[in-house]
Amino acid sequence: ERDYTQKIDEGLKPSNGALLNDESATFKALGVNEALCKSLEDKMKYSKPTRIQRAVIPALLQEDRDLFVQAQTGSGKTLSFTLPIIQKLMDASDGTLNRKSGVFAIILSPTRELATQTYNFLASKLCSTCHWIVPGIVIGGEKKKSEKARIRKGVNILVATPGRLADHIENTGNLDLSRVRYLVLDEGDRLMELGFEEAISKLLTQLKKDFSRVLPANMNGSLPSKRINVLCSATLKDKVRKLGEISLTDAKLITSQSVD
Ligand code: ADP
Ligand code: MG
Repeated sequence: ERDYTQKIDEGLKPSNGALLNDESATFKALGVNEALCKSLEDKMKYSKPTRIQRAVIPALLQEDRDLFVQAQTGSGKTLSFTLPIIQKLMDASDGTLNRKSGVFAIILSPTRELATQTYNFLASKLCSTCHWIVPGIVIGGEKKKSEKARIRKGVNILVATPGRLADHIENTGNLDLSRVRYLVLDEGDRLMELGFEEAISKLLTQLKKDFSRVLPANMNGSLPSKRINVLCSATLKDKVRKLGEISLTDAKLITSQSVD
């Protein structure tokens, strides 16, 4: 049977069950650091985490385990995966890391519009409290040349569409994947509908091949020692389950619906 379906009960009753059901829980109670709490409040005006954020944020901060996150559109999935990645990177830095320190996370989006939204959220909101963490975007179109230049200058979190990322990996030659510790497949159902399975398979093979345990010497070791994969989806259709099978290992399922 499928790996992650065995974890369903656990996903529905996470170890932080009390927090999950506590609608008055704060971001601080989920383990979010002070700087990020302040920017959530001041910049984003998010006063309380949503239900999916109460499940996903503590899981990613504490467990270093693959996740399959199913929740309806509009439930707040973007913050649930971007915030823990940023906090982990903040924790790992001793203050000397910079944009050249490596690509630590890749976020794949099915469309240029969605990639742009996620990138803008990172660049103008979430990363503004931590100056060294530089997000980048790779979606092609007119911008291929400037994308290439930006990759050369160094980015720490790459938001991309699958086809364009594959193109850069094949042809740009300066994209180092050895330090990637987080891979997020956002809108997994749409990634599959739009025919990106093969591009994602190739990326997974490349990530596996290029992975290095070695991180910068000035990094304090709070990043996971393996790559953590997060699959987000509005549904649990067969196609997206298949994407889970190829991309996740021993995943925990966090879902808002009951599954057989
Ligand atoms: P999803 O990816 O699940 O469809 P999004 O991450 O795009 O959802 O979030 C949907 C909307 O909810 C966005 O406009 C976002 O700014 C807003 N949002 C996310 N988290 C919160 C929060 N904790 N409090 C208030 N609004 C939020
Ligand atoms: Mg989304």
